[in-house]
Amino acid sequence: MNVPTKLQVLEQYFGYASFRPGQEELIDALLRGQDVVGVMPTGAGKSLCYQVPALLMEGVTLVVSPLISLMKDQVAALVQNGVRGAYLNSSLTWGQYQKALRNARAGLYKIIYVAPERLLTPEFLDFAQSVEVSMVVIDEAHCVSQWGQDFRPSYLDIPDFVDKLPRRPVVSAFTATATPRVRRDILSLLRLRHPFVNVTSFDRPNLYFEVRRPKDKLQELFALLEPRREKSGIVYCATRKGVEEVCTALGERGFAATRYHAGLSDQERQKNQEDFLYDRATVMVATNAFGMGIDKSNVSFVIHYNMPKDLESYYQEAGRAGRDGQPAECFLLYSGQDVSLARFLLAHSEEGQDLDPRAQEQLAQQNERRLQAMTGYCHTTSCLREYILHYFGEHAPTQCGNCQNCLGVFQQVDVTQQAREITVCVGHLRGRYGAAMVTDVVRGSKSEKVLRQGLDRFPSYGKLRGQKEDFVREVIHTLVLQGFLEQSAGEYPTLRQGDRALELLRGEACVLLQVRREDGDAVPKKKAPQDLPKGDPQLYDRLRQVRAKLSAAQNVPVYVIFSNATLDAMAAYRPTTPAQLLEVPGVGQAKLQKYGMAFLKEIQDWARERAGQAGG
Ligand code: ADP
Ligand code: MG
Repeated sequence: MNVPTKLQVLEQYFGYASFRPGQEELIDALLRGQDVVGVMPTGAGKSLCYQVPALLMEGVTLVVSPLISLMKDQVAALVQNGVRGAYLNSSLTWGQYQKALRNARAGLYKIIYVAPERLLTPEFLDFAQSVEVSMVVIDEAHCVSQWGQDFRPSYLDIPDFVDKLPRRPVVSAFTATATPRVRRDILSLLRLRHPFVNVTSFDRPNLYFEVRRPKDKLQELFALLEPRREKSGIVYCATRKGVEEVCTALGERGFAATRYHAGLSDQERQKNQEDFLYDRATVMVATNAFGMGIDKSNVSFVIHYNMPKDLESYYQEAGRAGRDGQPAECFLLYSGQDVSLARFLLAHSEEGQDLDPRAQEQLAQQNERRLQAMTGYCHTTSCLREYILHYFGEHAPTQCGNCQNCLGVFQQVDVTQQAREITVCVGHLRGRYGAAMVTDVVRGSKSEKVLRQGLDRFPSYGKLRGQKEDFVREVIHTLVLQGFLEQSAGEYPTLRQGDRALELLRGEACVLLQVRREDGDAVPKKKAPQDLPKGDPQLYDRLRQVRAKLSAAQNVPVYVIFSNATLDAMAAYRPTTPAQLLEVPGVGQAKLQKYGMAFLKEIQDWARERAGQAGG
């Protein structure tokens, strides 16, 4: 009999005619006997990458998997397809476990899913040493890293288990969520040997991304859903209570909404899920418990009612939109409270409970960093897609053309001046007050609290009179995020000047705020070079000198800073504010933040000198 090919296996067992991007390379490497690491987004089809070779190899394949429910689903799907599979985990009774092991010893199974905690138990080890293990697969391999989400200490036992086998099997690791750091951990902690590493792009070009900061989230949600009544989508909430409230409100508004969270009975979850899958309910309101293993292809929007705790979760959940490749939308409704809520949920999560105190501390720090990266997403003024892909270690163009920031839904407002006043005020208040009081003082509030403490006699009092409260709060928030101010932890956080405050006060940094463009506002376009008057040669020279100095100081080539064409455009256009500088071709957010002020200052000096000459 002929040995079947991988394509025959794909067709015969799984009913698919061709491989998806990334699958074939990984399968080929495994069949050559090489270890592999497959980093592919959720839904890309990682399981097939090891299931197909498992069926072509001689012995048995062991798949280490972290979740009982995942194992059950995978094995059920395999058995459906006529593959002999089983799982060994704590959901089995003692009797069932013994029976499964006996069957396994007798060679009944080709693929066995196992929980990591089982591997080094004497019984399982004895079994594994007595049969031919051709491959060990580590699914959700990011669980091995303390730097990723879902750290699972027993994943660290996997290489010891592999070492105890009489013949080293080929080892493969798969994950959807690997930042560069986690990827390094997977390679080293799992002790892979010269692995073939294949990273499929995480980019989902058909997804549109947008972040909104509504005052009233429920109203905003109605506004988003109304024009999408004919479509199917998911609304994610951070808590069960949130799910209940939102789902009820949507029902009252006449939306066909259903709900899903861990507090419901199995029966109801099952029913609601099916209502959604079969489009009897068009909106699914759910916690993050919903979605694993769900393969509904026509989800055309995902709305996050709260900001999730990290970008891994966000991208995974948002990524459930547009599986069919059709244009789909991902909205995030953000408020500052989401950050506190995420912190609260992290502090009360069961994750890491069995770790020692030091590891717990590390985990907490890591969670905080990931939370900040997530918060940064909600505040960034540059391309949202680029922000996400960069986080996952991918290079991406700085403009995707399919997110709110690229489409100019928002505009940048230069708030450097206001930011300075606020920073000065925070300095005066000497770290004794929080954002609310600082806002009151700079807006010149006559509130009892302000007057009683005599804060109306401070020099900063009323410096930003007439500015809206929301606006000032928003500037403060941005200042904290960018390190110009620092906010203490705890229930009543206070503000003090941050590490970068001096930069701002000295005029070496600028602050931009992102505000939603009102309908009818013109979209500012970058000036095309041919539209510019010829730059003043003297100014051009001086800008080149600034560039030369920066290049020497930072040890980077001059063109990395700005090209000659950009300097020429600057000399022609002579921007005086950061927002104007942004309109010069070749100046993006990042460079503006890094180098902008030096050039603005030079242009200012030059203009001043020229005015001086003309006048005198
Ligand atoms: P993940 O990468 O998230 O683990 P899965 O392995 O669960 O993804 O696969 C997601 C879906 O894609 C499954 O329904 C699977 O059957 C399907 N799939 C995988 N490979 C192919 C393929 N080559 N052609 C068509 N569908 C595929
Ligand atoms: Mg999977």
